[in-house]
Amino acid sequence: MDRRSDVIVLGAGAAGLAAADRLTRAGLRVTVLEARDRVGGRVHTVADPLTGTPLELGAEFLHGKPPLLRKLTHREKLTVRPCNDRHVFFWRGQLHEWSEDFESTQALAEAEPPDRPVGELLRELAQTERWPPAKVALARSYVEGFYAASADTASAVAIAQMEQAAEALGGITPSRVLEGYGRVLEPLAEKLLKRPGTLWLNAVAEEIQWSRGHVRVRARNREGTPLGLFDARRAIITLPVGVLRARPPQRGAVRFTPRLPAKERAWSRLEMGPLMKVLLRFRSDFWRELPATRRYGFFHAPALPIPTWWTLEPHRSRHLVGWVGGPGALELSRLPEQQVLLKALKTLARIFNLPLLSMRAELESWRVVNWQKEPFTLGGYCVIPSGALDALEEIATPVQGTLFFAGEATNTDGEEGTVHGAMETGLRAARQVLEHR
Ligand SMILES: Cc1cc2nc3c(=O)[nH]c(=O)nc-3n(C[C@H](O)[C@H](O)[C@H](O)COP(=O)(O)OP(=O)(O)OC[C@H]3O[C@@H](n4cnc5c(N)ncnc54)[C@H](O)[C@@H]3O)c2cc1C
Repeated sequence: MDRRSDVIVLGAGAAGLAAADRLTRAGLRVTVLEARDRVGGRVHTVADPLTGTPLELGAEFLHGKPPLLRKLTHREKLTVRPCNDRHVFFWRGQLHEWSEDFESTQALAEAEPPDRPVGELLRELAQTERWPPAKVALARSYVEGFYAASADTASAVAIAQMEQAAEALGGITPSRVLEGYGRVLEPLAEKLLKRPGTLWLNAVAEEIQWSRGHVRVRARNREGTPLGLFDARRAIITLPVGVLRARPPQRGAVRFTPRLPAKERAWSRLEMGPLMKVLLRFRSDFWRELPATRRYGFFHAPALPIPTWWTLEPHRSRHLVGWVGGPGALELSRLPEQQVLLKALKTLARIFNLPLLSMRAELESWRVVNWQKEPFTLGGYCVIPSGALDALEEIATPVQGTLFFAGEATNTDGEEGTVHGAMETGLRAARQVLEHR
C-alpha cells in the first residue's frame, strides 16, 4: 500500500476525522494513522449487550446547540433529544431540589484577569456573597466534575472563558444522540474507508521526523510489528495532551525529530484532567419508583466519592451512569475496579436511602471506565492551570508550514474538552494546510 501522501493525520478522533474529511474533499491525498483498532478516540459508543441501548464510555452529551454537530446530525438524520435536565442533590443526609440559589456558573463566567486558581475565587465568593456550605460544595464539585480539574490549581479565567463559550451556544443544557455519539463520526470514517490506504487503524505513530515541507512518520502496530515509514509534505497532529506529554518508551508516546522545545514547554504547562465513569444496569429503574427521585435526571452528592449520577433519559433504560472528575477521579483510578464498584453502590445507597444489600441485589451488570489507563488518551481532557491559558495558543501554532496541531487542547475559543471544540480545531488545521498548498 502506498505510504506517501500529501498530508498525514495522526489520530482518528473527532479532530482527526474532521481534518481528514475536509482535506480529502479538497482533493488532497491523506493518510490517517490511528493507534486503536477503532475510530472516534474519546467518542466511544458500545451497545448494551442485553438491551442494545447505546452506552457512552467517553463523550455523552451535546452541550447547548453547537452548529457543527447540529449540521452533521441533521445530515445523517440522527435523533438529538434533550436529556432530563432536572437536578437534585444529596446534602447532609437529605435530598434537596436544585434551584437558582445553588447555581454558580454565572459567577464562574464572570472571573477576570489576573488569573488565579478557581478554588481561590470560590472561597472569596463564599465569603463576600455568603454562599451556604452546600452551594460552595456544589460549585467545587461542578469544577472538579465538569472540568475534570483540581479547583486548587485550575485557571479561573480559562473556566470563565469556557462558561462564556458554552453560554453562547445555548448553555450547557445536555442533549444526547439517541443512536449513540459514535454515529456522528462514523460517516466521516466511512468516507475515508472508501479510499484504500487512507485510514490505518492499529497504527501507532512512534516518531515524527520533519523538516520544512517534509514529514516522515515511523509507526508500529500495537503488537509491536513495524509498519514502516509514512511520508508526506505536511502532518496534522491531533494527539491528546496526555500522549504528547508522555515520553518513549511509554506506549503511545511520540518523539519529534528535531524536537519542538516551545511546544514541549507548552504541553508540560497543561494537565490532563482525570475522569472515570461507572456504568451500571439494574434489574429495575428503581429511582423512578421512588417518589423523592422519580422526576430527576441528574443526582449530585458533592460529599460522596462518586458525586454525579445521571439516567440515560430520554432512553427508557435501567442504567445509571456515575461520573467523577479531577482529584477524586485520580484517587479512584488507582483502586481495583471491584472497589470502585463498591464505592458506587454505597454512594447510590446513600442518595436513594436504600440498604446496600438491596443495591447489590438490584445490580445486573457493571462497567468501570478508567480513562487514565487508556494508553492512547492518558486522562479525560485538557485542564488549564492558573496562568497557563496562553499554552493552548502555543500548541495550536503551526510549525514552519509543515506541522499543524489540532485536538481539543488546541481550541482557543473556550471549547476545549468538547467534541464540537475538537472538530472545530480539525477544520482549522485543515484550512491552514490548504492555505500552505
Ligand atoms: C469520559 C469523557 C466524557 C466526555 N464527555 C463529553 C461530553 O459529554 N460532551 C463533549 O462535547 N465532550 C465530552 N468529552 C470530551 C470529548 O470526548 C473530547 O474533547 C473529544 O472527543 C476529543 O477529540 P480529539 O480528536 O481532540 O481527541 P481524541 O478523541 O482523543 O483523538 C485522538 C486520537 O489519537 C489516537 N492516538 C493517540 N496516540 C496515538 C499514536 N501514538 N499514534 C496514532 N494515534 C494515536 C487516539 O487513539 C485517538 O483516537 C468527554 C471526554 C471523556 C474522556
